[in-house]
Amino acid sequence: MSDSPTDITLYLAEPRGFCAGVRRAIAIVEDALTRFGAPVYVRHEIVHNKHVINELKQKGAVFVEDFTDIPQGSIVIFSAHGVSRQVAAEATDKGFVCIDATCPLVEKVHQQISKYATQNMEIIVIGKPSHPEIIGTLGQLPKDYPSVHVITSAAEAQELTIAPHKDIGFVTQTTLSVDDTKAIVDILHQRFPSIHGLQKKDICYATTNRQQAIKALAAQCECVLVLGSQNSSNSRQLRDVALKNGANQAFLIDDASEIDWPALNGLTRIGISAGASAPEYLVEDLIETFRRRYNKINIQYVMVAKENVNFIIRNGNVPRGRYLSKTNLLW
Ligand code: SF4
Repeated sequence: MSDSPTDITLYLAEPRGFCAGVRRAIAIVEDALTRFGAPVYVRHEIVHNKHVINELKQKGAVFVEDFTDIPQGSIVIFSAHGVSRQVAAEATDKGFVCIDATCPLVEKVHQQISKYATQNMEIIVIGKPSHPEIIGTLGQLPKDYPSVHVITSAAEAQELTIAPHKDIGFVTQTTLSVDDTKAIVDILHQRFPSIHGLQKKDICYATTNRQQAIKALAAQCECVLVLGSQNSSNSRQLRDVALKNGANQAFLIDDASEIDWPALNGLTRIGISAGASAPEYLVEDLIETFRRRYNKINIQYVMVAKENVNFIIRNGNVPRGRYLSKTNLLW
């Protein structure tokens, strides 16, 4: 700590951390554990955060990537990222009691792409082909649907070849960079003026607000710390947005133990945010860690939006999962 100044200002992005879809997905797993007891199986990480996953594991959730070795009749929950129709069908065929924790905003994208397919449109999906959300979105299409293109960059949008007479529709992953996606969508509109797509694209409110907040603080900070796991798409975007908008350095860290203190030597203005799947207690712990290390910390809040989005909550605080199995479970 020899080179550290005695005073430091922490700029806290608002909003940050849990979004409505993540809160709902975690609550669905916790509720299933309470109702049915452990184990409950979750296909893929319910949300992309190491701490959330470890806590749910301790409570009895078992995270799996496929259905091998899961006993018939088990409770199986689909993650917030959504699954393909094939996966949902396989789960019900195997006799599992399925609960769908797909974020309603991802479901909206599923509905949109399905609608394009029923109209036999040429479909453009903007997103990372290996991300579970895009795999689930593509999995809404009929098998071997012939006219779908997955693109991730403006260059790919420029190079797309589509027959002139075709009707075209696009959807996007919910957690992309707002600015990069706008550039891609602008190119698509220029090249295919009659293209169909949601006016405000599919990037969700939480991704948009968190990116705007980090943009607002990045220019004031020498370094930005984003709490989130490396496999969290929206958290990675926050780090990248900070770097593109004025921060000299930005780090994506799982928790305070990963702070690169030598990199902060001599700095006095640090920005802090958290991805949509990172719990707030990690932010509190980070601040406490700074408090222990520096004589004085000042906190500045950089707020760009107030959020009051909540997805369906019924029976008091219990969010309703969508049961897919034929088992007659009353929620
Ligand atoms: S980041 Fe957006 S799309 Fe993803 S779970 Fe949260 S609200 Fe839903």
